Amino acid sequence: MRRKPVLAIVGRPNVGKSTLFNRLIGQRVAIVEDTPGVTRDRLYGESDWLGQPFVVIDTGGILFGESDPLLEQVRVQAQVAIHEADCILFLVDARDGLTPADSEVADLLRRSSKPTLLLVNKADNPKHWEDQRAEFFALGLGEPMPISSIHGHNVAEVLERAFARIGEQWQPESTEDSTEESVKIAIVGRPNVGKSSLLNAVLGEPRAIVSAIAGTTRDTLDTPFVWNGQPIVLIDTAGIKRPSRVQRSLEYYAQMRAERAIQRADVVVVVIDGAAGITHTDRRIAQKAAEAGRALLWAVNKWDLKEPPDGNLEQNTPAKNDFARLIQQQVKWLDYVPFVFLSALAGTGIERLLETCLTIADLHCMRVGTGELNRMMQQWLFERPYTRKGKTLKIYYATMASVRPPTIVLFVNAPEIVHFSYLRYLENQLRRKYEYTGVPIRWVVRAAHEERQK
Ligand code: GDP
Ligand code: GDP
Repeated sequence: MRRKPVLAIVGRPNVGKSTLFNRLIGQRVAIVEDTPGVTRDRLYGESDWLGQPFVVIDTGGILFGESDPLLEQVRVQAQVAIHEADCILFLVDARDGLTPADSEVADLLRRSSKPTLLLVNKADNPKHWEDQRAEFFALGLGEPMPISSIHGHNVAEVLERAFARIGEQWQPESTEDSTEESVKIAIVGRPNVGKSSLLNAVLGEPRAIVSAIAGTTRDTLDTPFVWNGQPIVLIDTAGIKRPSRVQRSLEYYAQMRAERAIQRADVVVVVIDGAAGITHTDRRIAQKAAEAGRALLWAVNKWDLKEPPDGNLEQNTPAKNDFARLIQQQVKWLDYVPFVFLSALAGTGIERLLETCLTIADLHCMRVGTGELNRMMQQWLFERPYTRKGKTLKIYYATMASVRPPTIVLFVNAPEIVHFSYLRYLENQLRRKYEYTGVPIRWVVRAAHEERQK
């Protein structure tokens, strides 16, 4: 999926942002709005123009407190638009003429390098327009364009101009939404945890193995195969043995190989020895995978030594629960990582392993929509307000800026007060809501407007 171009509407209250938003989004939103009891999402909408899908943000939908001064509000709106949009639609009001708040926003927009269209709304009377044109032109944002959102006058031209401006600079993100369909799974772990055995167990069954291809480094081996119709590439570090003179530092080399495999993977299977429990090296390897932003899971191998393999390995048992709980206590910061219990030797738990890999690979590139994300953030903030150093946190706008791994950007009033533990709270809510397991989530907290001192 390619990123859609984003238009953001900015302007003082009552200039007609919401009316323009409805126009641009078209019928779909209007239908929702007419349904009693359904409040439409004013902040964020999608539509298409000549077959090109696009997104509209109405920054008037950002929620402010009663006590937030108007100037502060428009500054935040402008900042969000500058950060989010590919083209900004700056709306002013022909009836009011130019106001100080308009000039302030124009300043911010001019200093950013974002393409901006200056739209003079409610220009219902062409006679007045000639007198006003010069005044608005002086804002330094190019030729002002008279429109009437309510009558739809010039609205199609707005889109035409916006797309012309975007076309000059448009760069669809290419790396993040890779067209490659294969899910790359790396099997990593300490020596002797059973990586080779696991690899054999995975590939041993009649699956469509294409061929084994040496990885980009001599330390990994790539094996493509298809499982349940899904192309998978296994990146394996197991088979390659080091010369004997380095046997002493086997753990060290295992770690290096693991790190290289992690760099190339979507999903990292951290194999640990269920009979031995977790070690320092296991933790380090998992930590590396999380830091690299990969989806990851614990594959607890040799479980046959703990419980007879004839019992169903998929079933929860007290022993498994205890084991998982113990690890979660020892590695608190990775408590979102799921467990799969295996016996590579007996060949049990393998289907569950692959299933879990694909589930977390999906979550890894799942996008939570901006409208929904904002509604949830407001709800969670409301349920647990946050005050520190005499300031109360406000979240003006939230967006999942990228995936693989999911990265959430929060525009707030005071980034310096946001303690790690509060992000942790938000993250837990998010994880509960989406059953977001096995995927590290990154948080970026930004000031919603520039420091004025600067
Ligand atoms: P927002 O606060 O910027 O979102 O503004 P709204 O979209 O809620 O519009 C404020 C008021 O201006 C409403 O009463 C609209 O009906 C009115 N309005 C919006 N666009 C136009 C227009 O093109 N011409 C006229 N005459 N009124 C408009
Ligand atoms: P690697 O170094 O991580 O590739 O580990 P290997 O696959 O070579 O396995 C190391 C040892 O553990 C071998 O003796 C395997 O037979 C044994 N092993 C591997 N998987 C299992 C398992 O599921 N259960 C038991 N009991 N032993 C296993």
